[in-house]
Amino acid sequence: MAYLALKGIEKFFGEHRAIKGIDLSIHQGEFIVFVGPSGCGKSTLLRLIAGLEQIDGGELVLDGRDITKLPSSKRDLAMVFQSYALYPHMSVFENMSFALQLAKVDKAVIREKVERAARILNLSPYLQRTPKELSGGQRQRVAIGRAIVRAPKVFLFDEPLSNLDAALRGQTRVEIAKLHRELGATTIYVTHDQVEAMTLADRVVVLRDGQIEQVGTPLELYDQPANQFVAQFIGTPQMNVVQAELLPGLHRAFGLETPLQGAVGLRPEDVALCRPGQGTLDGQVELIEALGAETLIYVSTPLGAQLVARQHSRSPLQLGDAVGVQIDAQAAHLFDAQGRITRH
Ligand code: ATP
Repeated sequence: MAYLALKGIEKFFGEHRAIKGIDLSIHQGEFIVFVGPSGCGKSTLLRLIAGLEQIDGGELVLDGRDITKLPSSKRDLAMVFQSYALYPHMSVFENMSFALQLAKVDKAVIREKVERAARILNLSPYLQRTPKELSGGQRQRVAIGRAIVRAPKVFLFDEPLSNLDAALRGQTRVEIAKLHRELGATTIYVTHDQVEAMTLADRVVVLRDGQIEQVGTPLELYDQPANQFVAQFIGTPQMNVVQAELLPGLHRAFGLETPLQGAVGLRPEDVALCRPGQGTLDGQVELIEALGAETLIYVSTPLGAQLVARQHSRSPLQLGDAVGVQIDAQAAHLFDAQGRITRH
């Protein structure tokens, strides 16, 4: 049974229908990540759940209770923002204990809860400092700690790591994953970052234009995208998608009688390069990105399309080299003219 159920949730900003009848069932203890292009409604949906925006239609049910019209403070949810939103003049301890003090929780209980959260988040040495005496990553952990001590039914995170530099983002991401394993709290997390979505989520919700395109585990979305949009949104670099009519003869590679319709999608790791004349088609190396552990090779083809190939080794290829491109029919995804998947 759903722990948190979104039933036909609607949101309008003036005439603009920002959220269009969203249905979603979230289980207790699940880590759900909302992703989608800028403006698709991720933050709005999170804010509707948090009670920071008013829901214009539909129902929100948490643990059997209709919370659609409850004010934010009564929903038993805690939100962690990108901007941390800490009180600058208060110590870390005071920041973390503030909500409990307001709720008149016993002082000894407050101390115990804050110290436990600080231990989990490696903040114990910093409890007497003020936020300006902390690094960005430590501040974000204080913001998370403040949410933890309240032991809410659901944690809501709005791009919590986007103000951190890459190394700190990586570390804090790992900490959030550990924290979730330890506390098992139901979590909804909004991010732009593919790696965060893929590594943290039990299930990812892909949004587009106020609607859900697909819900699934990270690998389901990667391996079995429902449509071309999801296929190209999930995965970096993007899945290669080429109009089928530009690949004459490819239908034979698929064992089909008739020429393919629609489009063919191939993950970069499923594009193999070989000597010119020995592949499915020929092309020329346009760009090489040597990332250390992997190399991305961008190849222009007579199809007018650029294909990117991922290799897990260093490449002897040079810019301008002629190459053959081997298209693995087994690995290819097929899309119809409307972008729906017809074969994974
Ligand atoms: P981003 O990734 O860029 O943060 P998002 O997916 O979180 O985007 P939202 O911020 O939820 O997108 O916005 C969804 C849509 O609603 C956008 O078209 C946005 O312009 C609009 N919108 C959001 N908040 C308001 C508001 N307060 N008033 C009017 N329109 C709004």
